[in-house]
Amino acid sequence: MPNHFVLQPLMVGRFPAFPIAKFLLQAETTQTIEAPCISWLARSTSTNSVVLVDTGPAALTEETSKFHTGLEVRQEDRIDIVLRSNGIDPNEITDVVFTHLHFDHCSHAQHLPNSRILVQKKEVQYAVAPNPEHRTGYEAGYRNVFPSWMKAFDKFEIIQGDVEVVPGCRILALPGHTPGSSAVIFETRQGRYAVAGDLVNQIENWEGNNGRHIAPTANCGLELCFDSFSRLEREADVVLASHDYRMFDSTKYGFTS
Ligand SMILES: [Zn+2]
Repeated sequence: MPNHFVLQPLMVGRFPAFPIAKFLLQAETTQTIEAPCISWLARSTSTNSVVLVDTGPAALTEETSKFHTGLEVRQEDRIDIVLRSNGIDPNEITDVVFTHLHFDHCSHAQHLPNSRILVQKKEVQYAVAPNPEHRTGYEAGYRNVFPSWMKAFDKFEIIQGDVEVVPGCRILALPGHTPGSSAVIFETRQGRYAVAGDLVNQIENWEGNNGRHIAPTANCGLELCFDSFSRLEREADVVLASHDYRMFDSTKYGFTS
């Protein structure tokens, strides 16, 4: 019997007024939107696998507030507290996948004691010493700032390329937003669902314009982004977004009663 998953979006922080043009390359607008940070919980319907994709941002400190602006994280947004408030014991999480190591995707994983953390080797290498324009995203190279992703480094399992996490769940190397970005593909009763990280911040990145996907503005190479979109077309039936409130229109994905 195939191992199917049911997915649930969890709110783990928010950007109250995020410029749309930062999500969608060439968007001709100065408008801002409120954007959530989403952690995706995926529970197997037949085994004890509970997979978490990304874990959200940390609350700002005096130091990080100097370079992260417009981020709102409350105490109750911490991933282990969010899990508990949704009836899930943080000890149940078996696997964490970081789609990439930007600060708003990989904090507080140290509070998930029984999980390993899967991350692409290229992403870890880049996060340690990114180009100057990408330092903020990785919180790298600031005095008195210990990057969020490093706090659970002892649990890292470094991967390279496409890897099966458990039956019914696999990681696709999907560079574009960052050098070591990944998507996670889940088999569900309604087809293959992809959690695509920040390649697909908003539904519009995927649905696009006149049949063409829209790359995120923050990217490490447009060609890589479009190669990754092509891979997603082949590998997924439904693509979920990482910073889009419309994801909360459903509380469960991939589920049929
Ligand atoms: Zn990112």
